[in-house]
Amino acid sequence: MDVNRIDFDVVIVGCGPTGATLANLLGICGVNVLILEKENKIYPLPRAVHFDDEVMRVFQTIGIAEELEKKTHVNPGMRFVDNQDNVLLNWPRPTTTGKHGWNPSYRFHQPDLEELLRERLSQQKTVTMQSEQEVISVKENEEFISVLVRDLGRNKVRSINTKFVVGCDGARSIVRTLIGGEVEDLGFRERWLVVDVLLKKEMPELGDFTIQYCDSERPMTYCRSPKNRRRWEIMLLDGEANSEMMLPEKVWSFLGRWIDKNDADLERSAVYTFESRLSQRWRRGRMMIAGDSAHLMPPFMGQGMCAGIRDATNLAWKLSVALKTKEFNGILDTYQSERSSNVRTYIETAIRLGQLINTHDPKGVLEISENKNGGLATMRSIYPILGEGVGSTLPDNMIHHRGLIVSQPKLMDSVYFDDKYGYNHIFISRVAVDINRSKDTQEPFVFITTQNESSLEELLNDLGTNAVLIRPDRHIIGTASSVKEIELLGSFSYH
Ligand SMILES: Cc1cc2nc3c(=O)[nH]c(=O)nc-3n(C[C@H](O)[C@H](O)[C@H](O)COP(=O)(O)OP(=O)(O)OC[C@H]3O[C@@H](n4cnc5c(N)ncnc54)[C@H](O)[C@@H]3O)c2cc1C
Repeated sequence: MDVNRIDFDVVIVGCGPTGATLANLLGICGVNVLILEKENKIYPLPRAVHFDDEVMRVFQTIGIAEELEKKTHVNPGMRFVDNQDNVLLNWPRPTTTGKHGWNPSYRFHQPDLEELLRERLSQQKTVTMQSEQEVISVKENEEFISVLVRDLGRNKVRSINTKFVVGCDGARSIVRTLIGGEVEDLGFRERWLVVDVLLKKEMPELGDFTIQYCDSERPMTYCRSPKNRRRWEIMLLDGEANSEMMLPEKVWSFLGRWIDKNDADLERSAVYTFESRLSQRWRRGRMMIAGDSAHLMPPFMGQGMCAGIRDATNLAWKLSVALKTKEFNGILDTYQSERSSNVRTYIETAIRLGQLINTHDPKGVLEISENKNGGLATMRSIYPILGEGVGSTLPDNMIHHRGLIVSQPKLMDSVYFDDKYGYNHIFISRVAVDINRSKDTQEPFVFITTQNESSLEELLNDLGTNAVLIRPDRHIIGTASSVKEIELLGSFSYH
């Protein structure tokens, strides 16, 4: 084999939502990518039904948000009720556009999203997607990685050389196993039956809110999906066999409280064991993991896939930077340090919600876990910032907002900020400063002054600063007030 032959800059293992998002973003960066998927079609069983506005911004960057929005339903929120239908906890979600330019909470059908992501992939000039290709092994050398792939159609094995491998290969990730390291178990483990039905008629009485039935005998969840699709999730008890619980008669008996065969057709069902796991090692050298291969959480917040999309947008531009330099360890080290603590907060919150749904003492859990607001416990959405990473070495007074996502204003010409400035580093300043960035050693920044774009004044006012440096994934690297600080931020470099 010619060891100097590099076939692709990045090989992505797995074309689920995480892999397909990462490949699209790398395509936008012009990176030469191969994405390998072992199945020949999109995963058909019921999975994600919810994503948020931050994640919609990633889909906006990829160019599928408008089409996707047509296939969604805006979610007004979630209610946790006891077995007499008394509301224990309310989690309202505004149904108006928020600071990110999108609604804070959407219901969707995961295969719709995956189809759009793959359609967009096929238009990316530097991305090749191949299905029925199973990655069976990965060998790391000093300068490159060899990926061994079995073509499942022809039962032939070939070797591909690449500079980086990202395992977006789900809960049973082979790449995670090859990277090694512990996987922390955060302690949640429950078996749930998940059922999607297609209503045959309008049934407004089912409502638009997600309802968590906090019944210690039989916890259940109802979700209003787009169009005529509705979801029920039912916790299974010890001794209840999966095969028996999935029989149509059994499923209808669970749903009998709300609907029967005259109202709907059963579309699909599956039994899952919901777990909470966090890998302790997301990278070894040129190999990384993202999405379910790095973390798993119970679905009560609708954030498992969202976390994978966040991994993808965090990693794509860093890989693009890393490809330009031999010193890639520094920038790639920030991937786990930034993402791991962020996803941990989501996992822990999802576990607490799971405990509330399945508790014999819901009030007790509420007391210790949620704020009370005028008698009714109200939950607010969480927005954990990134852990230590890019920008952490700037002076303290320049990193108050480091790791936060900036809002997405509409600009003077009515175009949204992200649409106009793209997946780039963006430097916004009230004053024009003369900063020469080296084309060879420094990432290019898009420089904008509020004299040319007055609509960004408010963004700087909200941050209480005179300048801000934003990464391609819209997170803040640092802010600056004095001219000296503005010059320091303007010369920020990864190398
Ligand atoms: C019932 C349920 C409800 C959920 N609800 C939500 C929700 O509302 N919101 C939310 O955000 N999340 C939700 N989730 C979680 C969400 O579905 C997952 O987090 C998401 O699908 C993970 O995406 P992924 O791309 O990381 O992994 P996957 O979707 O598992 O994709 C991995 C891909 O890798 C491929 N692969 C594996 N091994 C190899 C190999 N060796 N070679 C080549 N290809 C390989 C697989 O075939 C697969 O296509 C829910 C999950 C469940 C089960």
